[in-house]
Amino acid sequence: VQEPKAAQGDRTLAPNSVQAPTFIKAPKSDAGADSGQVESLVADILSRVREQGDAAVREFSQKFDNANLEVFEVTDSEREQAVANLDPQTRKDTEFAINNVRTFAKAQLGSLSEIDVEILPGVHMGHRNIPLERVGCYVPGGRYPLLSAPIMTIVPAKVAGVGEIIACLPPNAHEAMIAGCHLSGADRIFRIGGAQAIAAMAFGTQSVPRVDKIVGPGNAFVNEAKRQVFGPVGIDQLAGPSEIFVLADHTGDAELIATDLLAQAEHDVRTRVGLITTDEALAKAVLVEVDRQLESLSTAHTAGPAWQDYGEIALVADEAAMIAYSDHVAAEHLQIHTENDKALAAKLSCYGSLFIGEAASVVYSDKCSGTNHTLPTMAAGRYTGGLWVGTYIKTATHQWLTDEGIQQVAPPAARQSASEGLEGHRRAAQIRLDRLGA
Ligand code: NAD
Repeated sequence: VQEPKAAQGDRTLAPNSVQAPTFIKAPKSDAGADSGQVESLVADILSRVREQGDAAVREFSQKFDNANLEVFEVTDSEREQAVANLDPQTRKDTEFAINNVRTFAKAQLGSLSEIDVEILPGVHMGHRNIPLERVGCYVPGGRYPLLSAPIMTIVPAKVAGVGEIIACLPPNAHEAMIAGCHLSGADRIFRIGGAQAIAAMAFGTQSVPRVDKIVGPGNAFVNEAKRQVFGPVGIDQLAGPSEIFVLADHTGDAELIATDLLAQAEHDVRTRVGLITTDEALAKAVLVEVDRQLESLSTAHTAGPAWQDYGEIALVADEAAMIAYSDHVAAEHLQIHTENDKALAAKLSCYGSLFIGEAASVVYSDKCSGTNHTLPTMAAGRYTGGLWVGTYIKTATHQWLTDEGIQQVAPPAARQSASEGLEGHRRAAQIRLDRLGA
C-alpha cells in the first residue's frame, strides 16, 4: 500500500466574505487521494497488535521495516553508546536546542495558573493542572535524521512532569535519533515504527507499556493509527506534511522569501508553500527567484515537485484581504515580512506558529530556537495551536459547597431536573436541601 497524498481540502478557496486572491502561481488542484486502503491496513495492524502483542509487532517490523528484532527496547548501554557516537559539535548543538525548548516550555508552564474561587456565597470551585502519568512520543524515522524531532516531543513532556515518557522510533532510524531521545529525557526507548508503534503504545504489549496519550508526527500510517486509537488513549493532533506561508508587502526581499519557501519545500514533495503579497512586482520576483535557487539546491528532487504541485503565489488587494486569506489557509508556519510586521501579527488569528519580521526564520524554530516545531497542518490552525507543555497536562475542575452554597444551587438544579423528567437527579438535588431543614 502506497502512502496516499495528503488531502488538500478546499484550502485554495478564499472564504466567502473576501475576494479570492489572484494567483500569480496557483497550486495544482488536488482531489486528495483515496486513503481507504491505508485506513483498512492500519485497522488490521491495530487489531493484530491488540490481540497478539509483541508477536504481531515483530511480524510487522519484519514486513515494513525489514527488521528482525527479538527485543525492541534500547538498552542503557546502547543509549550511552549512541550519545558517545555523536560528534562533539552535534552534541553541543543538540544540547543547545534542548535547553532552549526546555526554557520556553518552563516559561509556558509558569503561565498556567491553578484557581480556587467562590463564584456564589458558599459555592467554591477551581481547577488543578495535573501532568499525565505516561506518554508515548512517536519519533519519525524520516528520510533525513531530524535530530530535533525527539527534542520537540520529549522535552516539554519532561517539563510538564509526566511520570514516564516512552519513545518509539523506526528500527532503521539513525542512531543519533536514539541519542536525541536519551538526551531529551525519554525513560524508555523502543525500536518500533509506523502503525505498529502506535498500536503498541495505545494497547500495551508484553514489552511496551500502555500509555495515556500519544504525541508526535509521522507518515500517513502513523497518523491514521493515531486517529483510530483516539478515545481510550489521547492524541496531540494529526500532523500532515509541513507548510509555510509568507505574508509580504513592497518591503519584501524576494531572495530571502524564496530561500525560506524552499527550506520547507525540501521536507516532502507534499509540502505546501506560499507567498501572499500586496505587491505584484515582488510576486513576480519570487517566482523567478525560486526557479533560480532550485537550480543549485541539492534537495531540488523534493523541493522542486513540492513547489510545482503545492507552491502558490497569491496577490491580494490590501492588508485586510491578506489577513482573510491567511486566516483561511491557517498555515502551519507563517512568516511576516511587512513594514508593520508586529501590528499585522496582532491581527492574525489562524496559524500554527508565527515568525514576525525578516530576522525570524522558520528554520530556527524547526531546529533549535525554542518554540515547538510540532504544529497543526492542513488548516487545523483554525482550531488549535501546536504541541506545548500544556499538551501533557490535564486541567481538571473541582468544586465544594457549604450549607449556604447548597441553598444557592439546589433549588434551580431540582427544578431543572424535574422539568427534564429526571427524577433521580431531582432527588439528589433535593435531599441535601431537605437535610438542611430548609
Ligand atoms: P515514519 O517514522 O513516520 O514512518 C516509518 C514507518 O512507517 C516505518 O517504520 C514502517 O513501519 C511504516 N511503513 C512504511 N511503509 C509502510 C507501508 N507500506 N505499510 C505500512 N506501514 C509502512 O517515517 P517517514 O515515513 O519517513 O515519515 C516521516 C513523516 O513525518 C514525514 O511525513 C515528515 O514530513 C513528518 N515529520 C513531521 C515533523 C513535524 O514536526 N511536523 C517532524 C518530522 C517528520
